[in-house]
Amino acid sequence: MGRLVMKFGGTSVADIDRIRNVARHVEREVKAGNHVAVVVSAMAGTTNQLVEWCRQAAAIHDAREYDAVVSTGEQITAGLLAIVLQDMGIPARSWAGWQIPIETDGVHGAARMTRINGAEIVKRMEQGQVAVITGFQGIGPDKRISTLGRGGSDTSAVAIAAALDAACDIYTDVDGVYTADPRIVTGAQKLDRIAYEEMLEQASLGAKVLQTRSVELAMVYKVPLQVRSSFEAPDSPHQNKPDGTGPGTIVCDEDKIVEQHVVSGIAYSRDEAKVSIRRVKDQPGVSAAIFGPLAENEINVDMIVQNVSPDGAFTDITFTLARKDLRKAIEVINGLKEKVGFQDVVHAADVAKVSVVGIGMRSHAGVAARMFKSLADKGINIQAITTSEIKVSVLIDEAYTELAVRALHQAYGLDKK
Ligand code: ASP
Ligand code: MG
Repeated sequence: MGRLVMKFGGTSVADIDRIRNVARHVEREVKAGNHVAVVVSAMAGTTNQLVEWCRQAAAIHDAREYDAVVSTGEQITAGLLAIVLQDMGIPARSWAGWQIPIETDGVHGAARMTRINGAEIVKRMEQGQVAVITGFQGIGPDKRISTLGRGGSDTSAVAIAAALDAACDIYTDVDGVYTADPRIVTGAQKLDRIAYEEMLEQASLGAKVLQTRSVELAMVYKVPLQVRSSFEAPDSPHQNKPDGTGPGTIVCDEDKIVEQHVVSGIAYSRDEAKVSIRRVKDQPGVSAAIFGPLAENEINVDMIVQNVSPDGAFTDITFTLARKDLRKAIEVINGLKEKVGFQDVVHAADVAKVSVVGIGMRSHAGVAARMFKSLADKGINIQAITTSEIKVSVLIDEAYTELAVRALHQAYGLDKK
């Protein structure tokens, strides 16, 4: 029997009844003979409340004390779940990050894990004790509690699974990864398997199933990962199928995916904005002079388009970025006017990014062409394009987001039969 890390998100532990439900999922895995560690998030809404209290206490506050406050949400859940498990007759013990310890760097509020000593946890698991571990936190080099950044408990779970040499099931409020957002596309289908790389693209493109960092870690350490629903009845007959797939979606190496689609999913993000700098001098060093200062201001730029300059003297540069960074970016660029020299800056926030993702793209031609044709057929104008080996993204008018996602889902044959 194997080692298993089970991770439950905030909605899955939102109240005591749901924590009992989680305990029954744990019970099932324990009875199946697994050695189990559970990683929990704070109860839904709790972390937001804690963050808000810090803000009310002082608009600008010490990151170490922020961590001291916001890490408590997970501690509550871990203790409560251990109590419920013990009450059911299942030996269990809660663990805060520092007790294990989960060591992190010193970047309070956005720390990265550096080392996890799993020895004590493994020993206890082998004695039949369930370890209930707080997600989202660790201990910094300054011996103070650190937190990993919002949504970080997925990453905790994967890192702990890697340290314990365990598989990792992420229980959440959806039953897996879909070919597109089922709220938009009625014919969206749950995937049995998705490759790490595809999941990584999906996560960074705005599909909010898993934190991007957690997928990166799973890929590097080859942690077998499954996304599944905590709302499925805990005692429903175990649905692990003979082909190794389970009730949810398995995130795995691409060579484990037998039936490969060219495109496995359509993702979208409305969190986009577009900036165009017009009539910039077309000469060496101009892009560096613009994108350097943006990076120094922690502004992540995504798509970049530079026009050919008709006169050889001036060009236009357009780029996209997260909508929340738009104001700051405009400020930074206006500050460069003297030095860089350009005519003016225009911007728009009513844009969306729609992407097709699939590892099959590496070996199939015509994927982008089909995308452009389907969008053209719907009269949707493309404002910018970027590609990677396994993804094509376009920037379009936000009003057409849903239309575009549906059209593409159909164009690549992803609609449920
Ligand atoms: N409780 C933390 C948050 O809300 C971490 C997590 O749930 O993943 O961001
Ligand atoms: Mg989460």
